[in-house]
Amino acid sequence: MSVKQSNYWLDTVSEPAKGVAQPLPDNVDVAVVGAGFCGLSAARTLAKHGVHVAVLEAETLGWGASCRNGGMVLTGMKLPVPTLISRYGRELVQRMYAASLESIDLVAQIVKEEAIACSFSRCGHLEVACKQAHFDAYAEAAACVKREFNHELGIIPKGELRREIGSDIYFGGLVDETSAGVNPAQYVAGLAKAAQRAGAALFDHTRVLGVKQQRSAGARCFRVETSRGSLEAKEVLLASGAYTTSATPALSKKVIPIGSYIIATGPLPADLARELSPRNRMIYDSKHFLFYYRLTPDNRMLFGGRAAFFPESESTVRESAELLRRGMIGVYPQLRDTKVDYVWGGTLDFAFDVMPHSGKLDDMHFALGFAGHGVAAATWMGAKLAGVICGHPDDSPFSKIPFANPPIGLRSGNTWALPLAGLYYRLLDFFT
Ligand SMILES: Cc1cc2nc3c(=O)[nH]c(=O)nc-3n(C[C@H](O)[C@H](O)[C@H](O)COP(=O)(O)OP(=O)(O)OC[C@H]3O[C@@H](n4cnc5c(N)ncnc54)[C@H](O)[C@@H]3O)c2cc1C
Repeated sequence: MSVKQSNYWLDTVSEPAKGVAQPLPDNVDVAVVGAGFCGLSAARTLAKHGVHVAVLEAETLGWGASCRNGGMVLTGMKLPVPTLISRYGRELVQRMYAASLESIDLVAQIVKEEAIACSFSRCGHLEVACKQAHFDAYAEAAACVKREFNHELGIIPKGELRREIGSDIYFGGLVDETSAGVNPAQYVAGLAKAAQRAGAALFDHTRVLGVKQQRSAGARCFRVETSRGSLEAKEVLLASGAYTTSATPALSKKVIPIGSYIIATGPLPADLARELSPRNRMIYDSKHFLFYYRLTPDNRMLFGGRAAFFPESESTVRESAELLRRGMIGVYPQLRDTKVDYVWGGTLDFAFDVMPHSGKLDDMHFALGFAGHGVAAATWMGAKLAGVICGHPDDSPFSKIPFANPPIGLRSGNTWALPLAGLYYRLLDFFT
């Protein structure tokens, strides 16, 4: 099968946001490293507070995970609630869950305030159970979420699943109506333009090569070396996600970069699209090595998964096209003869404890670990960190939790053990 290695979402952006061509300023209040959801959301908020901010992006604006993802704007966190409560205690987890709901409201608010045309829609998400035991656990999970957070989830028994999904392979589902869908590349373009309108300077093709602390007029500041010269910044915010490099070594030791891959079919006839996803949900299954899928606004089936654990390369993307197509047909035999138009890959930012984190490393602000929840969470965290830089108290529930380094072999730039982690999760999916 030969499929174009290209990102479908990028083809839908008619007017991408562009960085400025002028030289870097000599100094700024805040230098943000990385122009994804996190960096752009931070820049927008900072600029709206009158802060002189420069965003430094190694590639094009939104080049990283932010333009490559499934566009699922999801509630909750990666780990199950009982695990979170036993780790962090009830009060902190209630604040974390509240933040996850608030983050979706924030995306909705930004899209509305900035009039971003990005097909944002509160369509809800559906988790589908791959085993009877997974479905049996949904009742307790929904009761727990209701009890702890007063948030409603809907349980869909197998006999009623056809009103949610045109597939018979699952054992039931769990619906959250609060989640949403978005075209991530259009959202990135709109967010970048909103930050620019507010006064932020966005520099693309500007790779940060190193950051050093120094003193200027008796005050602590940073000298940021880039591929386009250097600048001085009073504060630095690292928003480089899974693409963090050894230019910022303390952060790069923290990130586990995990590849994820997506295919998109050609546009489907409207009645077939309705059959596959009658409520247009954001859908993912209950495995660790999961599939996630949705319709695009022009009725393509966009189908993603961790076909390889390694960060994307030309060969992992090529291999993923066939693996994902087979996975898609396993779910939807109706798509057996449907042509796949696009395949692409991206890298997710995981922390060792599978949690989002923010705070300070080497005196620089950072946010990391959004995993498969970054559309909403990175937007929220960027705005939150901007508030902290502007002097608001740091009340993020994610800033005080322990943040361990992953073992060598799973870290950015040294990922030889990732296939072992992949094997571990495949075995876990087999046995649980
Ligand atoms: C295939 C895929 C599917 C996903 N699906 C979903 C989903 O459906 N829903 C969801 O919520 N999340 C999803 N995610 C995760 C989500 O996309 C990320 O969590 C989120 O985009 C992270 O945003 P960010 O701003 O932190 O980082 P990024 O968007 O990765 O941006 C970081 C930027 O920093 C730049 N950078 C790095 N180092 C430097 C440097 N030294 N100098 C200058 N610039 C630098 C990079 O070039 C990059 O553009 C998915 C991710 C992938 C890869």
